[in-house]
Amino acid sequence: MEIACLDLEGVLIPEIWIAFADKTNIPELRVTTRDLPDYDVLMKQRLRILAEHGLGLKEIQQVVSTMQPLPGAVEFVSWLRQHFQVVILSDTFYEFAMPFMPMLGNPTLLCHRLVVDDKGKVVDYVIRQKDPKRHAVLAFKSLNYRVIAAGDSYNDTSMLGTADAGFLFHAPDNVIKEFPQFPAVHTYDELKELFRQNSQRQVI
Ligand SMILES: [Mg+2]
Repeated sequence: MEIACLDLEGVLIPEIWIAFADKTNIPELRVTTRDLPDYDVLMKQRLRILAEHGLGLKEIQQVVSTMQPLPGAVEFVSWLRQHFQVVILSDTFYEFAMPFMPMLGNPTLLCHRLVVDDKGKVVDYVIRQKDPKRHAVLAFKSLNYRVIAAGDSYNDTSMLGTADAGFLFHAPDNVIKEFPQFPAVHTYDELKELFRQNSQRQVI
């Protein structure tokens, strides 16, 4: 059997922190791992900015509730699930991502979680494990699954490299240039074609 592992933000839904930064007019929250590669430093900075502005989980979830999957994402996931077991491997948090799951047909989601106090303030976060995407792919392979993966950014590259086949989707030019070993496409039709070509089974 084959498992399709997909990144979430940038692949199926917009970037949540960027949407939140725009809605709240706090440009410092637009910083991502592309600007600040150390995830712990980045998250601590985000939590500090939230606290300074008196913003908690409720305010983020309000913005999330206005967001939709990227155009074509729902149809793509629906097609993919007819041919593969689909697992979403994300570095976001369950508290942000769960509202999107019913829209995407409730695929399995492996990500991180936030620690929220009784006043709704985000006080900390818990990373499920280190290098979680790569470890998930290794685990699926140890269960004798063949893995095909797609993602858009630096935090996906160890997952793509560990999978039996890995593709960049919607990736920025610098990532495409730095990782020429991964085929890079920009439309769901092209991505479907890569899944078809790299599956060992007949995928229509
Ligand atoms: Mg992403």
